[in-house]
Amino acid sequence: MRSHAATLSGAIPCADSIDDDSHVNEMGVQCCRRNASAVPCRQQKRNGTVSAGRASAKRENLEALFVIIRSAHTCRVIPTNVACKNSLGTTEFPETRHSNIRRFQNDFLFRQPTHLRLKFSHDLARRILRSPIVWRTTGGGCMNAFASRHAIIIGGGASGVLLAYQLLQRSTPDFRITLIEKRPEIGRGLAYHTGNPEHVLNVRVANMSALPDDPDHFWRWLTSREGVPPPCPDPYCFVPRHIYGDYIASLLMMSKGRSLHRLSIVQGTCVDVSDERSEVVVTLDDGRCYVGDIAVLATGHDIRSCSLGYVDPWLPPSAAGVDPEATVLILGTGLTMVDYIQSLVHDGHRGPIVAMSRRGLLTKPHRRVDPIRIQETEVPFGAGISRLLRWLRGRVDAHVAGGGDWRSVIDGLRPYTQRLWRELPPASKRRFLEHARAWWDVHRHRMAPEVEERITHALYDGRLTLEAAKVAGIEPNEFGARVRYRRRGQSEILSMQVGAIVDCTGIVKDPLASANPAVRSLFDRGLARVDPLHIGIETSADCAIVNYGGVPSRRLFAVGPITRAAFWEIIAIPDIRNQCAELAAKLAHVSEASLADLIAERPS
Ligand SMILES: Cc1cc2nc3c(=O)[nH]c(=O)nc-3n(C[C@H](O)[C@H](O)[C@H](O)COP(=O)(O)OP(=O)(O)OC[C@H]3O[C@@H](n4cnc5c(N)ncnc54)[C@H](O)[C@@H]3O)c2cc1C
Repeated sequence: MRSHAATLSGAIPCADSIDDDSHVNEMGVQCCRRNASAVPCRQQKRNGTVSAGRASAKRENLEALFVIIRSAHTCRVIPTNVACKNSLGTTEFPETRHSNIRRFQNDFLFRQPTHLRLKFSHDLARRILRSPIVWRTTGGGCMNAFASRHAIIIGGGASGVLLAYQLLQRSTPDFRITLIEKRPEIGRGLAYHTGNPEHVLNVRVANMSALPDDPDHFWRWLTSREGVPPPCPDPYCFVPRHIYGDYIASLLMMSKGRSLHRLSIVQGTCVDVSDERSEVVVTLDDGRCYVGDIAVLATGHDIRSCSLGYVDPWLPPSAAGVDPEATVLILGTGLTMVDYIQSLVHDGHRGPIVAMSRRGLLTKPHRRVDPIRIQETEVPFGAGISRLLRWLRGRVDAHVAGGGDWRSVIDGLRPYTQRLWRELPPASKRRFLEHARAWWDVHRHRMAPEVEERITHALYDGRLTLEAAKVAGIEPNEFGARVRYRRRGQSEILSMQVGAIVDCTGIVKDPLASANPAVRSLFDRGLARVDPLHIGIETSADCAIVNYGGVPSRRLFAVGPITRAAFWEIIAIPDIRNQCAELAAKLAHVSEASLADLIAERPS
């Protein structure tokens, strides 16, 4: 595993080992300077004094550090050393005095993560804590103490990057951010990793700025790339998604001043998140762990793991071994299906393509129209779903009768959709999901006109057939599979022979079915719960994750599509960018007083 080049060596607040360069983290031991003092940093700096605990350490010329012993370590106190051992090796803390380990017996086995408060000479403490951030902020020491303002973002797709950027912009120099991403690149995630140039944005460039207070930011970036001509004459266009991935990935480099040194990007898969009363601990699949004050889940869409015998929709068909002459059955007729058809065409597929879903609805195309202005007072907030849809239909009919386009009304509603969802009675939410969601989705999440052209072409020349039908059975055979299905409104069972089946039903809708270990760990620990409609993890209006007992966390937050239970319309960038900016404003301004509270909570 490696850190990304954009970082300062993937710096984390935890130390290299003392006597050699093997990484303490690999053994599950972390050393962090945790000032036991509750005196705010600036105050310490100004008057040069420290709290009683710290002062006594000063008198003895010692520095108090917290050493976090992860599970399954045996530690032993030898007169001036503490040695902690697990199957991966031993970490020795030499010249250690005044350890609270003396409370324990020698050879104590720590089964749970445990804080040891150890005191070291200043020199040694510095060596333990040697990381770029600590070195840069030494010179009084108090900045180090407050380097504990540390946010860990799990997931480096668009949401994670947008949040990291906003935190860097808004927070003070003592605030550090660690961004953990399992893919080799940040900023791409599921949507923007595609290399197929025909996979274009579903939202026009004009609306894809990453920054809510600078709507032209993406357009300016797009048109000012050195040596690359602008891909379109104006921002009402749809560019390849991989270009957007480049934009998001480069966003962090645009952070103001020298703030980038406060960011560490770590490649790895988060498998566990725990809330240890006074801090969060995030563990990766290789055993590395990160300690912070706050963790934010930005794990995005949960994709269905590919069932046996099905083709992976996120791989190019040629790479997945799809026979170019075979009949391909695509399950689902949404935007993932639209992408896959383009992938088939791109890879020179010649066989028939059948796309099947219960209603057989095809995503509507964009048109060059602007949203209408809808007054907040006319929106029936809090009304049941039937009244709400009647009102919307009436608004659309009136606009169309006046020569307008229905899209202008749907887009005009956008500033209110999150509030509409929040205030929709629970029974109406359920009815909406069961009966109206599919229609809403095809009108709301539209495809680019050039994509519509390709799909229409494939339909007209007979290569693509849309079926409103339900699969009744699949029998694998030597040529692929025989699929039995029933058309919508009919009882007769039909069958067809196909060479490949691609599941494009997309995203896992129920988070309880998530295979993501970070999400699972939150459920397993009771730190999160699924919302009553099973569409997301439950979060408060300010993105705090709600635990099993219904209490919003002070340390665990979430952004992006995983928060759709609270926000519903939180799938696309125009909504995610607002959410990230608002959450960053809140997290970056955690007051020093509340920080002092957090620090005071730590065991001494
Ligand atoms: C095919 C497709 C096309 C889209 N097109 C558009 C569009 O044109 N315009 C638009 O506005 N929106 C579009 N969207 C919506 C899109 O979801 C958002 O724009 C945005 O990309 C969501 O970003 P995210 O970071 O929340 O989620 P994701 O993109 O899913 O990213 C989550 C990241 O977290 C990482 N991760 C997950 N779990 C872990 C873990 N345990 N440990 C470490 N890392 C982890 C993943 O590797 C991933 O990189 C599209 C969505 C899809 C699926």
